Amino acid sequence: MNNLILLLVIIFNLFQIKDKPQSYIERTRLRFEPAYSDNNPAEVVKSWKVPFKTTDRNKLKTIKVISTFGAKRDTYLKGHIHTAIDIIPSKPENYNYVYPIADGVICSIHLGHPHKTIVIKHKLPDSTYVFSSYKHLQEIYVETGDNVKQETKLARLYTHAEAKKQGGNYDHLHLEIRKSFNDYGCASWLTMTKEELNKYFFDPLDFLKKNLGEIK
Ligand SMILES: [Zn+2]
Repeated sequence: MNNLILLLVIIFNLFQIKDKPQSYIERTRLRFEPAYSDNNPAEVVKSWKVPFKTTDRNKLKTIKVISTFGAKRDTYLKGHIHTAIDIIPSKPENYNYVYPIADGVICSIHLGHPHKTIVIKHKLPDSTYVFSSYKHLQEIYVETGDNVKQETKLARLYTHAEAKKQGGNYDHLHLEIRKSFNDYGCASWLTMTKEELNKYFFDPLDFLKKNLGEIK
């Protein structure tokens, strides 16, 4: 009898292993590895700022949130989860430029228009790393491997007219703050579960709320 139960447990476990599908992220990540460059930032993060040259980069109210973190999306992969906040400056100009939220090194530039993306690797005082990712960039002024400061102009956003030509509302910054870049970027559009969301991403609004200004 005991042997029969043992056999059933083994068969059950075999099916569990066989039936566990690889996630979209696991299946896709290696395709984006070639765009990644594992450099170490020259500077440790001293402060966090909003990614636009606003009147006060330490103030959250100088940016406007268009779409929130964790919202369900039906574009591309139906039901994927929005891994970022979509933002613009509260007082947008004709051309809106993007700046790093903290000092760091450019570790990846990937995808084509209208999803062009820059990723920065940041080193924290406790020697752990955080990544920030900037998507929907019309013009890019930096290269992979560049060390960048908060004052380095990274890119320009689409104007409304340019976004329209691309067939979408891409005239905003999709800003991610990431715990990991182990997916090489594809979790940005392939995150299907809360577990994956929490594995790779911080809630950027929450992160900025807590951390804007000098690190104490
Ligand atoms: Zn977005």
